[in-house]
Amino acid sequence: MSEDLPAGSGFHVDSAPCVGAQALTRNIGGTWHGRLGRCTCPVCEVPRALIVEIGNRAPIVTCMKGCSGRTIISIARARGWLR
Ligand SMILES: [Zn+2]
Repeated sequence: MSEDLPAGSGFHVDSAPCVGAQALTRNIGGTWHGRLGRCTCPVCEVPRALIVEIGNRAPIVTCMKGCSGRTIISIARARGWLR
């Protein structure tokens, strides 16, 4: 019996620190546009209301409906969207 490992098995995930915002955007189900992401805000649930930008330590989130960024980040962490 020989080992039968399929070529390119598994999926490779590149996660440099600076892509936290991109990963968060993807995890929420939004789309990334060059330097920022747009997605549905997990607090008010308005599509494309949430803008995600790359921050120094954590993604910067801004809801156009005025939801608290701190609340959005804590929800993202709780749901495993953000490390
Ligand atoms: Zn919101």
